[in-house]
Amino acid sequence: PVTIIIITVIGVIAIVALVTVAVLQNKPLSQKYKYGIVLDAGSSHTALYIYEWPAEKDNNTGRVEQTHSCKVQGPGISAYASDPWKAGESLTDCMHEAQQKVPRNKHEETPLYLGATAGMRLLNMENSSASDQVFQAVEEALRQFQFSFQGARILSGQEEGAFGWVTVNYLDDRLKQGLETTGALDLGGASTQISFVSSNYDGSESPKNSVTFRLYGNDYNLYTHSFLCYGKDQALRLTLAQQTLSGPVIISDPCFHKGYTKIKNYADLYDSPCVSHRKPQGAPATFNHTGTGNFQQCQEQIKRIFNFTYCKYSRCSFNGIFQPLVQGPFGAFSAYYFVMDFLNLTDTSEPLTEVKDKLTKYCATLWSEITAQHHTVKEKYLAEYCFAGTYILTLLTEGYNFTSESYSKIKYIKQIKGSDAGWTLGYMLNLTNMIPAEAPDSPPLPHA
Ligand code: AMP
Repeated sequence: PVTIIIITVIGVIAIVALVTVAVLQNKPLSQKYKYGIVLDAGSSHTALYIYEWPAEKDNNTGRVEQTHSCKVQGPGISAYASDPWKAGESLTDCMHEAQQKVPRNKHEETPLYLGATAGMRLLNMENSSASDQVFQAVEEALRQFQFSFQGARILSGQEEGAFGWVTVNYLDDRLKQGLETTGALDLGGASTQISFVSSNYDGSESPKNSVTFRLYGNDYNLYTHSFLCYGKDQALRLTLAQQTLSGPVIISDPCFHKGYTKIKNYADLYDSPCVSHRKPQGAPATFNHTGTGNFQQCQEQIKRIFNFTYCKYSRCSFNGIFQPLVQGPFGAFSAYYFVMDFLNLTDTSEPLTEVKDKLTKYCATLWSEITAQHHTVKEKYLAEYCFAGTYILTLLTEGYNFTSESYSKIKYIKQIKGSDAGWTLGYMLNLTNMIPAEAPDSPPLPHA
């Protein structure tokens, strides 16, 4: 009986302590959370993100957090064009993980979205019925779960750019406070986006590059553009394709390391609407892709995939696309981060000349040395970091016209406060009306 009394007393003390803490923090005992799930169906892979926020704070900024992410095994859904049901099947492991992570009693009320980007934009252009079948398969797979499935669709380039910008500024708490915003640079496999607010741009010169938002009582006029075929993987195809125009059997490529040599199929290289029209007539089936490891020459090759001559506006980035001068700080994420982090080049306080010197040395390193130093890195990625780093610097400085000074205002980022930078959070905040147009009422003034 003494033990029972002691246990009871300890129990009562514990409950009193818990209640006191809860009352002092002015919180209900069990905080109620809401959840949302977004699948990012990118060109090279699909990732699932789970977001969580306190139920009574739907309209408050900075309160939605990513609590879990899951990388789907295998390629992006656009790679399943000839076997669509496998696209749906590929998602099930991550969906089962989501079932475990979201509390059981919340499944029915948890919205589930799938957004596809440039990989599916390209498949849709190339073969719209295959793209429809992939969506059918994916939708069927997602409906098997208890979540509130809200649909699967292709995002436009403008949406992808604008929601990436919303994510970055929401996570940095810049929107509610009406602070100067951060521009967003997103590099995918098939497309790349640039989005920023410029004080001397009203959107009238090129309306298709303009997105307006009213968020927390502030108006934003965002410049945004998505370059299809200028994601890292398609840009590599464009660069290689221009070197195979005459159909040589050996391609000496300055963007790959000396000692790298691989037999590749012409058919694979040209299997994309970004380059299919350029396939050389009567080309042999294969070519020998051989590296020469020269940054300068690599940059020259890459520059040739941009058209800098044609522009009908006051100023352009490239390919005749209007762009005001870049302004303010920028966050660069997705492949920008993966590549520059691998190359140890994320420190943008380092002068651009030094960054180029380091990359020059890296590109000139023998392939045998590179593979020996990084035996745990996937060979496909490893072979392409010299190209990818050179492409990033060329795109930023020659394409978007970042100068030494404005380059130093770029931050290469993966996450902000534990949430991944990318379009998914902004997309969900928008679809769940979580960012109000007007600022929430300020709390009443205290009595004197
Ligand atoms: P997407 O699938 O369209 O979102 O594009 C993601 C891009 O990032 C693709 O070009 C991938 O090859 C690239 N990527 C993903 N992880 C890495 C990594 N660890 N190193 C280099 N590139 C990566």
